[in-house]
Amino acid sequence: MRKIVLLLMLTLLVTSWTGLYAASAAIAPKQAVQSYGGLELSQVRWANHTEALTGAAKLRLVMDVSGPVKASGVVVNAPTPRLVVTVKGTTPGTGVSDLTLDGKVVEKVSFDVNGKDTTVTFDLPLKVEAGDYKVFTLPSDAKANRPFRVVVDINKPLGLPDFSFTAGLKDKVIAIDPGHGGSDPGAIGPTRYQEKTATLAVAQNVQDLLEKAGARVIMTRQDDRDVFGPDASDVEELKARSSVGNNRKADIFLSIHADSFSNPAAGGTTTYYYQKTLYDSMLAEALQTSLVEAGDLQDRGARTANFYVIKRTQMPAALVELAFISNPNEEKLLSSPGFQQKMALGIVRGLERFFDQAAKLN
Ligand SMILES: [Zn+2]
Repeated sequence: MRKIVLLLMLTLLVTSWTGLYAASAAIAPKQAVQSYGGLELSQVRWANHTEALTGAAKLRLVMDVSGPVKASGVVVNAPTPRLVVTVKGTTPGTGVSDLTLDGKVVEKVSFDVNGKDTTVTFDLPLKVEAGDYKVFTLPSDAKANRPFRVVVDINKPLGLPDFSFTAGLKDKVIAIDPGHGGSDPGAIGPTRYQEKTATLAVAQNVQDLLEKAGARVIMTRQDDRDVFGPDASDVEELKARSSVGNNRKADIFLSIHADSFSNPAAGGTTTYYYQKTLYDSMLAEALQTSLVEAGDLQDRGARTANFYVIKRTQMPAALVELAFISNPNEEKLLSSPGFQQKMALGIVRGLERFFDQAAKLN
């Protein structure tokens, strides 16, 4: 696909909701007819709209087209959530450029040429269901000087659901994210042992133990690979990992990492959380307690952090730093199957401890 680089229309930001339907004097001048006799997507406008009564919010994007066309949308969930709208038999005109939005409903809109069609890709913070978007067309109106239009409405994803947990691991859905992988080794120890290897080994042990206890495990990766794919940005990669948990509606999301610091004497176990539900700190405390019991390393506590995968997941989440790979002793531990199994047991006991505590809040 060829990226179309075009100029940004600042007027979009001040376009009112109702104004989106209105004709605009700013319609780009007719371009020379494109190849294969296609029509042109001449201008794009968008606005956020909140219904006063219900508070429901949506984004509306309107594309002017130089003649009648067909348009349809399809939701793509992996590696990251997107809505892809195809506008048949068109090419984007020079007045159309990729848009970076505020991310509440849509993060980015990009326009690409795909054969004889334009594909308009909406990067979404969370996946949308079929009922949450609409793609439709409006005929041209010569009297009102309105061109043919393709309209895309996307509802804002709902907030976090209310959680309530039962005790025990049976039937729980646990998303496990072995940190790094593929092109990204993570931190590297003094003898070149790689973080991505330790995180995967521990995660696989956790998976075995949880499945034996009757839980369902969703792994963001099962082997040594990038989750989004090679050449992805950091955010794409982290979003792909969060999306695995969000799309599969996991009860808990757990990311497994090893720490690293310039001073090789630094060591210990830390658990990070972002308090977005009632339960994130409780989860982190439970994991931290059980990991310190299991591994017997310095207790660096449960701490808050802004990390993407704990912030942008839709369920209670934690990120554990098992030990410091930059510390020669702890690098050795991280690479040993015995320690990997101990820490996996610590994680599973921590999850069990969490569900038992959370069940008492009901
Ligand atoms: Zn890491």
